Amino acid sequence: MIAVQSLYKKFGEVEVLKGLDLTVERGKVVVVIGPSGSGKTTLLRCLNILETPTSGSVQIENQTLDFSGKVSSKEIANFRRLTGMVFQSYNLFPHMTVLQNVMEGPMTVKKEAKAQVEEKAKQLLAKVGLADKETVYPFQLSGGQQQRVGIARALAMEPKVMLFDEPTSALDPELVGEVLRVMKELAEEGMTMIVVTHEMRFAQEVADEVIFMDDGKIVERGTPDDIFKTPKVERTKQFLRLIH
Ligand code: ATP
Repeated sequence: MIAVQSLYKKFGEVEVLKGLDLTVERGKVVVVIGPSGSGKTTLLRCLNILETPTSGSVQIENQTLDFSGKVSSKEIANFRRLTGMVFQSYNLFPHMTVLQNVMEGPMTVKKEAKAQVEEKAKQLLAKVGLADKETVYPFQLSGGQQQRVGIARALAMEPKVMLFDEPTSALDPELVGEVLRVMKELAEEGMTMIVVTHEMRFAQEVADEVIFMDDGKIVERGTPDDIFKTPKVERTKQFLRLIH
C-alpha cells in the first residue's frame, strides 16, 4: 500500500510537484501518464527518496516518512528498501555479469548469505526468461534483455512496491513486448506497481487505475476506460488527442 499526502518538491525556485495526494492499495497497478516535464519521474524518485521531497509525507505499507519534519538518512535507507525501481536506461553495472548484477543488492545492502542469494537470483533470472544468460555481461545483451535483468535485480531486494520509469521507451519496438510481458506477469502475481509509460495498450490491459499528471499535479484519475474513453477534464482530452 502506498499513501502520498501533500507532496511538494522544489528544485531551487522551481516547484515541480505541487501538492500531490495519491493512494494505491496493495496489489494494484497504477499507470501515470502526462506531458514531458509534468513531474512523473520526480514523483517516482520521491517515492523511493532518490529525491528528498520538500514537504509532505510518503507511506509504504506501515512505514511513513513525513518531510515536514526532520528525516534521518537511516530512516531513508530503510524506507528505500521497500521499493524496487526500474529505470528507462537499465542502469546495470557494466563490469558485472548478469547473475552478479542481480546478486549485488541482497549481498551488499541486505548482507544475505551468498548461496541463498545466488539461488534466489537464478530463480529470478528464470522468471524473466534469462536463465541462459547468467554468465554474460550487460553489453552482450539486447536492450529488452538488459531491462529484464533490471527487473530481476529490483525484485531481488524483495520490495513491497515496484516503480517503473518509462521502462520501454529506450527500446526498439520489437523488444517492447518482452518487457511488458514480464511486467504483466508481475501484476498478475499481485505486485503493487506504479508505472510511468506511454504504452497505452499496457495501461488499458493491466492498469487498475490511470493517473493523468500535468504541471506537478494530478489532473484526473480513473479506470483506463474512464481516462481513455470518457476523460472529463479538457487538459486530459487535449493530451490524449496529441498522443493518439
Ligand atoms: P518526461 O516525460 O520528459 O520524463 P516528467 O513528467 O517525468 O518528464 P520530470 O522529469 O519529473 O518530468 O521533470 C519535471 C520538471 O522538473 C522538469 O521541468 C525538469 O526540468 C525539472 N527537474 C527534474 N529534475 C531536476 C533536477 N535535479 N534539478 C532541477 N530541475 C529538475
